[in-house]
Amino acid sequence: MVTSNKIKAAQFVPCRNSAAMVSSSTLAAAKKAAELRSSGIQVIDLSVGEPDFDTPEFIKDLAIKALKQGYTKYTPSAGAETFRSNIARYFSENFDSDIRPTEVVAACGGKQALFNAICTLLDSGDECLIPSPYWVTFPEIVKFIGAKPIFINTAQNDFLLTAEMVAAAATDKTRALIVNSPNNPSGRVISPEEFRRIVEVCAEREIFVIADECYLYFVYPPARVFSAASLEPELRQWVAIAGSFSKTFSMTGWRIGFTIACEAWSKEIAKLQSHSATHPTSFVQIACAEALCHTDEMRAALDSMLQEYLRRRDYFVPALKRINGFELIMPEGAFYAFVDVRQLLQGGFANSAAVADALLAEAHIVVTDGAGFGSDGFLRFSYAASMEKLEKAVSEMKRIFGVK
Ligand code: PLP
Repeated sequence: MVTSNKIKAAQFVPCRNSAAMVSSSTLAAAKKAAELRSSGIQVIDLSVGEPDFDTPEFIKDLAIKALKQGYTKYTPSAGAETFRSNIARYFSENFDSDIRPTEVVAACGGKQALFNAICTLLDSGDECLIPSPYWVTFPEIVKFIGAKPIFINTAQNDFLLTAEMVAAAATDKTRALIVNSPNNPSGRVISPEEFRRIVEVCAEREIFVIADECYLYFVYPPARVFSAASLEPELRQWVAIAGSFSKTFSMTGWRIGFTIACEAWSKEIAKLQSHSATHPTSFVQIACAEALCHTDEMRAALDSMLQEYLRRRDYFVPALKRINGFELIMPEGAFYAFVDVRQLLQGGFANSAAVADALLAEAHIVVTDGAGFGSDGFLRFSYAASMEKLEKAVSEMKRIFGVK
């Protein structure tokens, strides 16, 4: 029984930094899809940034084994020893480098890896270069800690960041650059040569590079898989890699990722994490560490997913190009098609969000508006959806907009 008569009705007012955060536009699109579905409507959801495959059986089995073996307690906040050493060995062997376990810190997905790397590097007032279009989360983390996102518009170069663009945007306040290749939302892949030049330009100016390698393996020939782990030590010391198992092995719900950065940075990351998530789930770490030793099964699982994404891309992108008012570049990586719909704006649509709304209202197709990625006038279509859904979406869009 409350005896005080001085207690008022609570008015929750978020702190300034949280209030200023913009909700994720990708999650907003997913919410719209869920609402339609719950009212019994069949939705063609092309908004999701999530593989539509199940996690490979051998990884599930490894997690069950780890659980039964009793890996159910805290691990060190930087991650279990075997997780750190197996990631270090895997990257060293596959990317011809020399990564030490002390340079690896486990994280609850690529998102937390990025959060950890950014929050331990930037002070308020620091400038952080972000190529645009960008993944929605990058500027929100940077702003949350009081640093300043400086966008580099890559549209003039078909969404490919160059070392010259970075050099032109850098100032004496620039502390970091966040690069994401293969890119969400554009699907573009920076060549290994250009990536090296970008890091060189940054290192010369004492700018750290945060390389988001969430889609590391989602690269279609002739583009090549490239990890910043393969940079020479003089360059790699300026880079933190944010890695993730989410897309690679279709493990989005498991929440497991990692950073690879110099020891001093990794220590700060582990410290920060010890006061937040503590560490990712213990038996998930053990399962992933073990999975890295099952090279053949890993390769087979990845190859079968990649083949299917490639098949879908090769159908979907040319089909989108034939739709009236749609322009796009063939993406070399990830599983997104980033469509320029600006021609449709001359035909009566106010902006790309209005085009997305029309797709939703007239055909129950859910896509993500480009404005959230810093590119009004564009729509992001995910082809992490079945061929059947992609074909249905294409035939509906032909009906709505006509063909060229
Ligand atoms: N980076 C990019 C570019 C992404 O698209 C995503 C997820 O969509 C992530 C990082 C984070 O993924 P996760 O936290 O599931 O590893």
